[in-house]
Amino acid sequence: MSNRSERACMLCGIIQPFKKFVTTGCPNCESLLHYQDNEEGQVQDCTSPSFEGLVALGADNKGSWVARWLRIDSFAPGLYAVKVNGKLPPHIISALEDENIIYRPRDGSAED
Ligand SMILES: [Zn+2]
Repeated sequence: MSNRSERACMLCGIIQPFKKFVTTGCPNCESLLHYQDNEEGQVQDCTSPSFEGLVALGADNKGSWVARWLRIDSFAPGLYAVKVNGKLPPHIISALEDENIIYRPRDGSAED
């Protein structure tokens, strides 16, 4: 990854420039993570500059095996990381649990 301003959302794995998370939030998780309301601190905490593997999700491969495998088949079209290094902070995870969202870390530590 040469462009270090790109970051991956730790919840859904979408890759966007840091600035885009701050200005427009995450197309999938904004209602849960509120990147826009919390500005840069939230983006620092909940996105990672360290990620591996890129999958482009578009209208033509929604529902494909790769989208299902990454559990992104219901997500917005975009570029997604296969693996995102880092974990959401504990207070975010408990806030998600309050919303009945089970957080699966995308850093390879989750067991199916
Ligand atoms: Zn997200």
